Amino acid sequence: MTHATTPAFVGTRSTGARFWANNKATLIGCGILVALMIVVPFTASSSVMNIVVFAMIFALPAIGLNLLMGLAGQVSLGQAAFFAIGAYTHAIMLTKLDLPGPVAATIGVLAAMLVALLVGLPLMRLRGHYLALATLGLGFIVMIGVREWDVTGRTTGIYGISRPTVFGIPIDNSGFFLWFVTPFVVIGLILALNLTHSRAGRALSAVNDSELAAESLGVNTYALRLKVFVLSAGFAGLGGVFYAYQVAIVSPTTAEFHLSVSILLMVVIGGLGSVWGAVAGAFLVQFLGEGMRDVIPAIFPGATGEVQLLGYGIVLILVILLLPGGLYQAATTLWHKLPFAGKRPPGDAHAHTPGSASELDTTIPQLPLVSTPVAAGEPILVIEGLTKRYGGVVAVNDVSLTVPAGSILGLIGPNGAGKTTCFNMISGALTPSAGTVTFLGQVISGRKPHVAAAHGLTRTFQNLQVFTSTDVVGNVYMGRYRKGRAGVLRGMLGLQSAEQSGHRAASYEILQSMRLTDAADDSASDLSFGKQRIMEVCRALAAEPALLLLDEPMAGLSGAEREVMAELLRRLRTAGLTIVLVEHDVAQVMSLADHVAVLDDGVLIAHGDPESVRNDPAVVVAYLGTDLDEAEAELTELEEHA
Ligand code: ATP
Repeated sequence: MTHATTPAFVGTRSTGARFWANNKATLIGCGILVALMIVVPFTASSSVMNIVVFAMIFALPAIGLNLLMGLAGQVSLGQAAFFAIGAYTHAIMLTKLDLPGPVAATIGVLAAMLVALLVGLPLMRLRGHYLALATLGLGFIVMIGVREWDVTGRTTGIYGISRPTVFGIPIDNSGFFLWFVTPFVVIGLILALNLTHSRAGRALSAVNDSELAAESLGVNTYALRLKVFVLSAGFAGLGGVFYAYQVAIVSPTTAEFHLSVSILLMVVIGGLGSVWGAVAGAFLVQFLGEGMRDVIPAIFPGATGEVQLLGYGIVLILVILLLPGGLYQAATTLWHKLPFAGKRPPGDAHAHTPGSASELDTTIPQLPLVSTPVAAGEPILVIEGLTKRYGGVVAVNDVSLTVPAGSILGLIGPNGAGKTTCFNMISGALTPSAGTVTFLGQVISGRKPHVAAAHGLTRTFQNLQVFTSTDVVGNVYMGRYRKGRAGVLRGMLGLQSAEQSGHRAASYEILQSMRLTDAADDSASDLSFGKQRIMEVCRALAAEPALLLLDEPMAGLSGAEREVMAELLRRLRTAGLTIVLVEHDVAQVMSLADHVAVLDDGVLIAHGDPESVRNDPAVVVAYLGTDLDEAEAELTELEEHA
């Protein structure tokens, strides 16, 4: 499978044909769901109807939680809180303020989103278990709050919520109600699916894979997570609105912990990250709940509703143990077993194997775009007094450097000299203890990496930061993030296809520049270490940076790959790109760099052209200790490479 030329998706098909090709699965899926919902009221018993209605209602908070957990990787145990806020606000607006249904419903959803925004502002700084615990706490606050507040009717709740009327038709039976809910679920589903495939959606799953790499490509991870948290609460609030209509009473049970667990179960059973899975999970959990209502009292005589939670817990554990990818995983495994399902041609993966150094063509087929905002030779990066202390350890000590535009600076030094720490402070991954980093005239030290990325500074990592949930081209495509504009809203509305196809084509071209096109559609995690490193360089180049920080780009590369990499870097410099290179292959650095800076024990011990640095006794001693024989041998080797 090659993409040597412009890929097929940028072809000349009509808009309608392109729309169908891009949305076939969604349209077919939604068509089937709508058809089923039309048929169910005519065919199902009243108890099954009831389950289906609740499944559709709970599909909404499940879709929302799936965006948060599956896409953004944020565990929330408080989805019931937003569900309850939507339900209660809607009920209060209807019964106490007598507002029209659509207005009350809108206020219900907005109330859930507003609370999510207020609590999300501090909570989205938390990660993993802490966020789960904090949202659990929020759930308890809402649960106790509605029980204790007069406005929410304390333990009795709010009664007398009348069913809505649509175009004068009262929605007064379950069949009508199901048809009333279905369009909202379908629209919610399409919006969520669009978001998943959008620029923002890709950024969210990238954050989930490696927050550091996503930030370094310009993703404001905090803002993006906050937006998804608020959006997720909006879905829950809408579910709450429909719930209030369906049961005609809102009581503290809507805010109970077991509801959060059951929504969590829907998402996990459905398959984290799959929007369709969340809908399927909502159905499964509703039917499961009904089944448990019969089964559990038979096993535990006299058992009440609380024991149902035990059943949910057991199912949750079993799913996590036996089917961690949920129904989605089961469905995709089954699909690939079908004879007509699309399969990769045998041996397609990793079909491209680099030749030996002797047979390798080091000409670069295509040069990625380079942004050159500063005239060659002008300072692009100025480091002043940069220092990083870890308790008693001074990892970087008062380093000052100026990097002229359009040049390659090699940053070298023995293990533990402070090179990566320096990189981390320049790119924003670490806050300096002292000193400043000025890039293109802006002080960027102490700011988040996405700020540096927004100004045009991109980096690669010594410890690879691969987006493992996507393929190789998907990784490079993420590099285009800063070149795109579409946010969460445009992503949900699917208004970015032109922008996306342009970036995708550019990503293939960049892969071509490093001879990785044959692996473009392979899973990034399946690539060899060396190829992953090359892919990271391609990803950084996709951002069209003005300054590229490369942390050991040659490590793990074969001799042939090193030659291609070195040639690419030379040509990028000729095109005007500024590069700072940390590399242990000193000979490569000496042959590539215009200037070399040497760190030892956190201190800048030499800085100048490769020739003067090579002959600097302080450098030789720092590298080779005090053994002069070794020092001379190393110097001879360096001269041979020069
Ligand atoms: P290498 O070439 O081995 O990657 P390096 O030159 O990149 O090394 P750094 O990783 O920047 O060196 O580390 C510089 C020094 O700072 C080392 O002594 C290291 O142990 C110390 N150091 C780095 N990070 C921390 C930390 N989080 N806490 C304490 N010390 C640290």
